[in-house]
Amino acid sequence: MLILVINSGSSSLKFQLIDSEKKQMLVKGLCERIGIEEPFFDYENGGCSIHEPRQMDTHKDAVHILLETLLDPECGVIGSLDEIAAVGHRVVHGGPHFSHPALVTEETKEAILKSSGWCPLHNQANLTGIEVLEKAMPGVPQVAVFDTAFHQTMPPEAYMYGIPYEYFEKFDMRRYGFHGTSHEFVTRRAAEMTKHDPASFRLITCHLGNGSFFAAIKGGRCLDTSMGLTPLEGIMMGTRCGSIDPAIPPFIGKLGNCTPDEVDDILNKKSGMLGISGVSMDFRDIQAAAAEGNERARLAVKMFCYQAIKIIGSYIAALGGLDTLVFTAGVGENDEMIRKSICDGLAYSGIEIDQERNLIRRKEAILSTEDSAVEVFVIPTNEELSIAVQTAEVLKKTDA
Ligand code: ADP
Repeated sequence: MLILVINSGSSSLKFQLIDSEKKQMLVKGLCERIGIEEPFFDYENGGCSIHEPRQMDTHKDAVHILLETLLDPECGVIGSLDEIAAVGHRVVHGGPHFSHPALVTEETKEAILKSSGWCPLHNQANLTGIEVLEKAMPGVPQVAVFDTAFHQTMPPEAYMYGIPYEYFEKFDMRRYGFHGTSHEFVTRRAAEMTKHDPASFRLITCHLGNGSFFAAIKGGRCLDTSMGLTPLEGIMMGTRCGSIDPAIPPFIGKLGNCTPDEVDDILNKKSGMLGISGVSMDFRDIQAAAAEGNERARLAVKMFCYQAIKIIGSYIAALGGLDTLVFTAGVGENDEMIRKSICDGLAYSGIEIDQERNLIRRKEAILSTEDSAVEVFVIPTNEELSIAVQTAEVLKKTDA
């Protein structure tokens, strides 16, 4: 079944055409700088790749270019749009309303708009993508797959914040978590790989990339996750500060005479690995600088590992033990030094990884030794494939 996966941002639109049964990506691409100067179209289909400026004043123009390219006799992969069974859209915030992917109807669209509370720009951009695709492909089912849905199984003690209750009641202010599609993907695969009972195994997923986040999962259900009301909470990330003393933002505002938006910018874009190292937000650059003796780069790496060990430790407590630990995303799939430091810091829990196996990059692998009390896997994440598979499942349920 061919599923077109769309991730629509305010000035970009990423897409992949995926065969959800074969779990195979056929083409992928990106429309960039929509509605601003120098718009660009990127497209990759095995032998045929396009990287060229194209006029894209609106998302409608971008979708027109993408569909035209899919049908192109030279670079395309389909003969007719009828070959696409459905479109799966990434939607960032499902608020408290969505715990599963949903077929797009007028009610779904209204709920997406209402759920956007804390990520209004993201949800609005996602909705634009949905509406443009609805018009461009009439009659083709559209499915919304929510970043927050996977985390909806968290119990109140995990998702509530210790602030006056009225903020929850009136404004739905609580932990939501993000990138549920990544956790969902690696959880499903870990359930296939584990020697424990998938119905009850205690799993911690570590998505370590530019954005980094963890989830504590029991029998496939999320119990806790490190991102919160927004993606700023949790471990320090490429440019995000992660969890800090909540008194710091107003102090930064007062010290720098900054507006709340400027403080938000500092915490989201100038902090984390970049803010500490002063080198880069990219782990490869930071590791290279650390190897050359750059003390701030070394400190950033140490802080990252220390915070990871603390979060995982707290999740081991929440789960009452641990059966399986999964590393994924750019850093988790590639950086053997970070994986080793984190696993060494968790040695008390009986985790033991094999140093040879730990050299693996970008491949699924078992890192733990035969004697390790905890299985340790690397599972490359694939959020687009997760969206395609979940979209196909919604279609099957709708047909049934
Ligand atoms: P995003 O959160 O943007 O999806 P990724 O999951 O692609 O990010 O992760 C990007 C991060 O992964 C970057 O900091 C990059 O340095 C790091 N990374 C990618 N490849 C390697 C590698 N071979 N070794 C170490 N780090 C890597």
